[in-house]
Amino acid sequence: MNPLPQCCLGLLLASVLLQPAFAVDVRDVRLWSSPDSTRVVVDLSASAQHSLAVLHNPERVVLDVPGAKLGKGAHAPPAGAGAVKQVRMSRGSSGSLRIVLDLARPIQAKSFLTRPNAHYGYRLVIDLAAVALARADKPIKVKHAPADARDLIIAIDAGHGGEDPGAIGKNGTREKDVVLAIARELAVKVNAEPGMRAILTRNADYFVPLRDRMRRARAQQADLFVSIHADSIRDRSIDGSSVYILSQRGATDEASRWLAERENASDLIGGVSLDDKDDVLASVLLDVSQSASLNASQVAAERVLRQLTQAGEVRKHDVQQARFMVLKSPDIPSMLVETAYISNPQEELRLRTPAQQARLAAAIHRGVHDYFYANPPMGTRIAQLANGSTVRPVLATAAGGGGTGE
Ligand SMILES: [Zn+2]
Repeated sequence: MNPLPQCCLGLLLASVLLQPAFAVDVRDVRLWSSPDSTRVVVDLSASAQHSLAVLHNPERVVLDVPGAKLGKGAHAPPAGAGAVKQVRMSRGSSGSLRIVLDLARPIQAKSFLTRPNAHYGYRLVIDLAAVALARADKPIKVKHAPADARDLIIAIDAGHGGEDPGAIGKNGTREKDVVLAIARELAVKVNAEPGMRAILTRNADYFVPLRDRMRRARAQQADLFVSIHADSIRDRSIDGSSVYILSQRGATDEASRWLAERENASDLIGGVSLDDKDDVLASVLLDVSQSASLNASQVAAERVLRQLTQAGEVRKHDVQQARFMVLKSPDIPSMLVETAYISNPQEELRLRTPAQQARLAAAIHRGVHDYFYANPPMGTRIAQLANGSTVRPVLATAAGGGGTGE
């Protein structure tokens, strides 16, 4: 997403005129915060014009709705959330209703009016997103991390489980057991790192449906999804790890499915609801989100693969693409690590040892660490740590990296 153009006065003024102004009730003001943005929704009894201004010192957003008044139930402003410290409402000078959002940090704002749908009437939507601080040429150094910088959430998905053992080795080793051990070890390493927090899609021997794994990651607003497996193949001489991301084909199929389920898709696109968009626009928005995720998945997977190469046998030296269901979250960069071939008797025996499990977990962890230090999401503790360090963050695809060949 391109940052909004900023005019010299630091004043952003948007005016939307849809109908002549007349008395309109503000029925409710609701706030939703996600890790990267805050959405304020003003429920209106009818269409209305509005103006929006971003003001500084102190940072605040001022929304004026001419001809509007507070309706029943909207007398108490809602509590702040996300970037909004508090909400104030008052009658403006010329008979307009003024809503002031006091901000915890600088933001970029955009606003739009949506038409009624099955659940809501007219809504004025104000989206607040973090300002793009990180100029590549001027790293911003933060000595003391503000308390509100969030942790990165790494969703770790141990494949299979319960009635689904996954692949089974010649000596009876079950994939579901070794991948859970590796996943837990990875979670320990992630949690030991400042600014990162792990969630496990399963933490015991039970089966979790594939879509539920994605749902769990999305519910926690995960920044990355890492699925852990140990493959099996008829040729028992084959060994080594591989890293997969979703293929473009799989992504396209999935996009159509998400679109068919508007209810699910509505909150998908960081801050943009698909509810009231027509199919073409919705599909474009979903596409944008999905290609961004796929690009990030590729870069993150390369980092992990690089570390696995240093840890031991790697079967495929390029990131592979496949249509794994579990990688299909359109908005979370996702990868699947086949840690080893459980069908190879030597690898099977090694996989059972805590030492090898720890080695694999450490390699994946280093890859994840490298990826996020090179590409820290804004508003995260890692972004501050990366910018505050004396080491300049390196871009993901380092010069000279390139083709590893076969
Ligand atoms: Zn598997």
